[in-house]
Order: sequence, then C-alpha cells, then structure tokens
Amino acid sequence: MIGILTTIVGPMFSGKTTELLRIMDREVIAKRYSILFKPKMDNRYSEESVINHNGFGKEAIIAEDANHIFEIFSNLNESNKVINVFIDEIQFFDSNILKIITDLKQLGVNVYVSGLNQTYKGDPFPFKDNDNHIGYLMAISDYVISIDAVCNVCGNKATKTYRLGSDTETVVVGGQDKYQARCVICWNK
Ligand code: ADP
Ligand code: MG
Ligand code: ZN
Repeated sequence: MIGILTTIVGPMFSGKTTELLRIMDREVIAKRYSILFKPKMDNRYSEESVINHNGFGKEAIIAEDANHIFEIFSNLNESNKVINVFIDEIQFFDSNILKIITDLKQLGVNVYVSGLNQTYKGDPFPFKDNDNHIGYLMAISDYVISIDAVCNVCGNKATKTYRLGSDTETVVVGGQDKYQARCVICWNK
C-alpha cells in the first residue's frame, strides 16, 4: 500500500487552512483516523490549535520539527490505525519534511499538506533551512489544490501576498497587520 499526497497552496488568506480542515472533517466523519500537525514556528492567534483567519480551528499537535511528526505518528499508529496525516503551514519545516512525507506514504498513509506557494517577493517559498522549496513538494504531489484570495486593494482574484511595512527579512510571520492578499496588478505596484 502507498499513500497519496495532496498539497494545498495559495497566497495568505486564500483559505488554505480552511480547505485542509474541510477535508479532514470529512475524513473524520468517514471514521478514517486522522492526525493534524502544525509547526511550532507559526504562533499566530493560538499556540494550541490550527486556527484559520475566521477564528475556527481544530486541535493540532504542535511539531517541533519534521522528525517530531514521524515520532508522534509512530506512537499513535498502533496496529496501523492512522489513515491520514494533515500538516498545516508546511513551509515552516526544514527540507527533511520531504523525507518524512515520503516515509509516511510508503507506510500507506495519505498525506495532506497546506502552505504558501510564494514569498511576498513572488519566489517559490523556501523551507526553513533554505535547502529546497514548496515547488518541489508541489511537483511530487499526486494532487495540487491551488486557491486564490480576494485582492485587498481592488477586489479581484488574488494570487499574491503583499507585505506591508519595512521588514527586511524574506520570511516574517504575521497576519493582517503585516500582509495583504493582492492580484498580480496591485501586487506589482
Ligand atoms: P489561509 O490559511 O490561506 O491563510 P484561512 O483558511 O486561515 O486562510 O482563512 C481564510 C478566510 O480568511 C476566508 O474564509 C475569509 O473569511 C478570510 N479573509 C480575510 N481576508 C481575506 C482576503 N483578502 N481574501 C479572502 N479571504 C480573506
Ligand atoms: Mg493558514
Ligand atoms: Zn487588485
């Protein structure tokens, strides 16, 4: 048995977390044992759960790093009961998350991940160690779900993330105080 890999991508506020939780909700209704992880680095809104921008969330296990995900999975997987592993904010893990995902699939586990496809500069979003990026993960996925947001300037479809303010680092964690969803035209201005 081999599992399937589904990757959900889009700009900030596009509903990636909402979509991940929607899929998970259905799997739970179907009584397929599912575990939800989020990286420790994402400390927006809540330390304990995966929260979407509507404030609705599901309890998630906070993973220190990719190996921690496999460790917790192994502990919970007595008699191979885990069917699905869900991971939010996948871009905030190191590149060895790719190996963990492959290992889970080899064990027959379906993996659903969500994350940003692009930085605010429009580049492929790098994993935390800068060794690889989300584009690789999209390429090896069985399914890629790409969703858009609403442009905070003109209301058209937004595929880009625009950063407000004067931070200089490429990756800065934040919400609506720091970022907007924008269409390509408003993003390019
Ligand atoms: P993501 O995980 O992609 O950042 P969430 O699933 O957390 O997104 O939140 C999606 C929700 O954010 C939408 O359902 C909507 O209510 C809200 N929202 C706030 N700003 C926007 C925007 N510019 N475009 C679309 N949705 C937005
Ligand atoms: Mg999210
Ligand atoms: Zn626009």
